[in-house]
Amino acid sequence: MPVPPRRVLTYTIPSLLQKQVEVGKRALVPLGPRLVTGYIVGLLSSGPVDLQNLKPIDAILDSEPLLDHHMLKLTRLVADYYLTSWGLVIRVSLPPGIDRRTARTVEIIESPERLAQEAGKLSPLQREILTALQARRRMPLSSLKRRWPAKEVDRLIRTLVSLNLASLTYRENIPAVRPAYRSLVDLAADRAMVRAEIDVFHRRARRQASLLEHLLQSGSTITSAEAISIAGASGVRSLIAKGFIRQVMEEIERSPWEETAVAADSWPEPNSAQQTAVDGLIQGLNSRTFFPALLYGATGSGKTEVYLRVISEVVRQGRQALVLVPEIALTPVTADRFRSRFGDRIALLHSGLSPGERLDQWRRIKRGMADIVIGARSAVFAPLSRLGLIVVDEEHDTSYKQDDDPRYHARDVAMARGQMLGIAVLLGSATPSFESIHRAKEGAYRLFLLPERVHARALPSITLIDMREERAQIGVRGAPLIFSRRLTDAIKETLAKGEQILLFINRRGYARLLLCRECGFTLRCPHCSTSLIYHAADDKMRCHYCDYRERPPGRCPQCGGIACGWLGYGTQQVEAAARILAPNTTIARMDRDTTRGRQAYRQILKSVQQRQTQILIGTQMVGKGHDFPGITLVGILSADGSMQIPDFRAGERTYALLTQVAGRAGRGDRPGQVIVQTYNPEHYCILAARNHDYEALCQIERPLREKRGLPPFGFLILLLVTAVNEAHTQAKAERLADLLLERAGSSVTIEGPAPAPLYRLKGRYRWQILAKGHDSSTLHRWVKETIALLPPLEQAGVEIDVDPVDLC
Ligand code: ADP
Ligand code: ZN
Repeated sequence: MPVPPRRVLTYTIPSLLQKQVEVGKRALVPLGPRLVTGYIVGLLSSGPVDLQNLKPIDAILDSEPLLDHHMLKLTRLVADYYLTSWGLVIRVSLPPGIDRRTARTVEIIESPERLAQEAGKLSPLQREILTALQARRRMPLSSLKRRWPAKEVDRLIRTLVSLNLASLTYRENIPAVRPAYRSLVDLAADRAMVRAEIDVFHRRARRQASLLEHLLQSGSTITSAEAISIAGASGVRSLIAKGFIRQVMEEIERSPWEETAVAADSWPEPNSAQQTAVDGLIQGLNSRTFFPALLYGATGSGKTEVYLRVISEVVRQGRQALVLVPEIALTPVTADRFRSRFGDRIALLHSGLSPGERLDQWRRIKRGMADIVIGARSAVFAPLSRLGLIVVDEEHDTSYKQDDDPRYHARDVAMARGQMLGIAVLLGSATPSFESIHRAKEGAYRLFLLPERVHARALPSITLIDMREERAQIGVRGAPLIFSRRLTDAIKETLAKGEQILLFINRRGYARLLLCRECGFTLRCPHCSTSLIYHAADDKMRCHYCDYRERPPGRCPQCGGIACGWLGYGTQQVEAAARILAPNTTIARMDRDTTRGRQAYRQILKSVQQRQTQILIGTQMVGKGHDFPGITLVGILSADGSMQIPDFRAGERTYALLTQVAGRAGRGDRPGQVIVQTYNPEHYCILAARNHDYEALCQIERPLREKRGLPPFGFLILLLVTAVNEAHTQAKAERLADLLLERAGSSVTIEGPAPAPLYRLKGRYRWQILAKGHDSSTLHRWVKETIALLPPLEQAGVEIDVDPVDLC
C-alpha cells in the first residue's frame, strides 16, 4: 500500500545532497521502516526543531523541480480549503505513477543444506512457505503475505532471520511510469581520426567499417537498431569499447493524437451576441486582473466559438490558455476542434491517455511547449507558467468534483487559481449551476449571454409523453414499455428521411431489477444497499457500486417461485428493442460498458459524426456537449430517474440533463424534435425544461434553498461516518453530532445525523451529518477543530466532503 503523505515532516540534508536539494523536487525519505516519496515544500536554515531526532533525506528524485512557487501555493490553498492533506493534493496535481517507494524483500542467504538442517523446527505451513521462497530465492514480503497467513509468514521470517538464514531488506521499486527513450548511435571519435583508421576496419571488420562509413557520410546520429542491422550487435559493442562510437539516449514523446494532422478549419464570422462576449472578455483579459465571467448560452449558441476567439487572443499575447472539459468523452472531439484552429501547440491531459502519454504531455507543458492545454478535472493543476485564461466548459457538470479524497471541485480550483494569478476565468454552460448563476446575478462574475442558437436555428421542440396514459392505452403487462407510440412513429419517420437519432436512458445494463412477482423479492447486493442489475453480455447480475456479480437465479431464492421478471430497463434492453423496431439500421450503444477501451469513445463518436451510425443509444455520456449536426430526433426514454434522488439539487440536475440531451437535436440545417417520456408530466422541473425556462425553475427552488441555508445561500460540509458494524456507525455519528453541537456558534448548524441514502456500501454502513454555515471560513474552522478533538482512530472513519455535490 502506498503511504499517503499526510503531514509536513522535517528531514536533514546530508552534505552530499546539499547541492541537489531544491523546493519543488521530490525526495525519497525514511518513514517508519520504509522509504517513501515526499515533496520538498520548504527549506529551514535553522529551526526550532531538534536536529538530533531528525532523519536524513535518502535521495533526491528530480533534476528539476516539479512544482514552482505558484503550484505549491495553490495546492496548499486547496488542501486547506478541502480539509485534506497537502501531499494528497500535490499528488493529484502531478502525473500519476511517478512516485517511488521501497518494498520489504526477504532473501535467502544460506545454503540449502543448512536450511534443510533447520527445517525440522518449522511447522508444515512454514515449510511450505520456505520451499516457495527457496525456489525464487528472493520475494517481496507483501506477496508472501498475500498467499499465506501473515502471522505464519512473520513467525517464519523471524526464525530465519534470527538463525541468519535469511535477510530482510528494503529494495527500491522503480516508478511505474517513466519518460521513454530511444537509443541512438553517434561518432565518438574525431572524424579525421576515424577516416585515418577506417582502412584497418575495411580489412579486418568489414561490417564495422560500413557502420563508420555510414556515420561519416550521414553526419548525424542513427538509431541503435539501425546500427546493429549494419554492424551486428557485437560489432556495435566493439566499436563502443574502442571509443569510435557512443550510444546516446534521446527522450521520445508518446503522442496521444490519433492522426498526425487534422485539416485546418476556418473561423466563422461571430454573430453580434458572440462579438459582444468576445469583446467583453478580451477587455477582461487586458485588464490583467482577476476577471471571473460566466458565458450563459443555449445549446448550440456558439459558446465554443467564443472560447476559440478569446483563446486566440491570449495566445497572440504570448500567454497560455487552459480549457477544462467535463469528461474524457468530450476531450477528443473538443481537442480536434481546437487543433484544427491552433495546430500542434496543444497538449491533452485526461485519464483516457496511457500513463506514459500523460507523463509526456505533462512534461511538454512544464517545458512551456504548449500554448493551450485541454483536459479533464485534474488538468486544472497543469503546470503552465504563462497562464492568461482558464475556460471551464459545461461548468455545471458534476464530474468536475472528485468523489475521492481530495474531494476538490475543478471549477472552484480554477477560480482560486485565476484569482491567485490575476487572470480571466470563463465558465460556460447552457444550464449553469445555481451557484454560478447566483454569483453572476450578484455581480461577482461578469455575465455574457448568447440567447439564440447560431443562424437563428430554433431550439428543439420538446413533446412530453404521459407514460401513465400510454400504459393504460396499450396495456402491456409484465414487459417494460420502452417506446411510446409517438416515439415509435418518430423513429420510423426520421430513419425514412435518412436522419440520425439519439436515444437516452440513464441506466446501463439490461434491466433495473429482478422481481419475483409472487413474493416481491428482489435480488440485492450483499455488500451495498442497492439492487443488482442484469447485464446480458455476460449473463450476470451486477452491483453498479462494488461490481459484485452473480448468475441470475432460475427460481426465486425466497419463495422458490418461477414468476421472476425484469422490472425497468437499461441501455442493453433498449438496444435489443431498437433492433427489433428498426432491423436494418446501424445502432451503437455508448455507456460505461462499451467505452472501456481507450479508443472506444472516439470510434463511436466518429461513426455518428460520419453518419455511419443511425441510432445512438446511451447514458448521460451522450448528452455532453457533442455537436452532431445530423441528429434531428432525440428520445428521452425516461425523464424520471434523476428527479427522485434525495438531493436538494435533483431539480437542477434533471433540468440540466433534459436540456443538455435535448440540445443534441437540430444542430444542423434541419430542425430538431425531442420526445420526452415521463410518468410525471406535470412536474415543474420537466415543464421548465420543456419551455426552456430555467428562470421558472429558479423561482421555485430559490426560496426553498434560502430557507434551508443551502447553496448558493450557505456553505455545506458533508461528514460521512462509516463502519462495518451497524450499531457502531450510528453511535459514532451521534457522538460526532453532539460534539459539533456543543461547539457550534450562532452562524453554523447541522442536519442529521441520518442514515445516508446509500445506507450500505461495499460492506460498510454509512451515516451522515450535514454541517451548514453562512460563512465558509467559520464553517470550515468549526468542522476542522471539532474533528481534531476525536481520537485519531475515530477521525480516520470520518470522510469530509467540503462543498458536496452528491448527498447520496
Ligand atoms: P455550443 O458550444 O454553444 O454548443 P458551438 O460553438 O459548438 O455551440 O456551435 C454550434 C455549431 O454552430 C458549431 O457547428 C459551430 O461551428 C457553429 N457556429 C458557431 N458560431 C458560428 C458562427 N458565428 N457562424 C457560423 N457557424 C457558427
Ligand atoms: Zn455492491
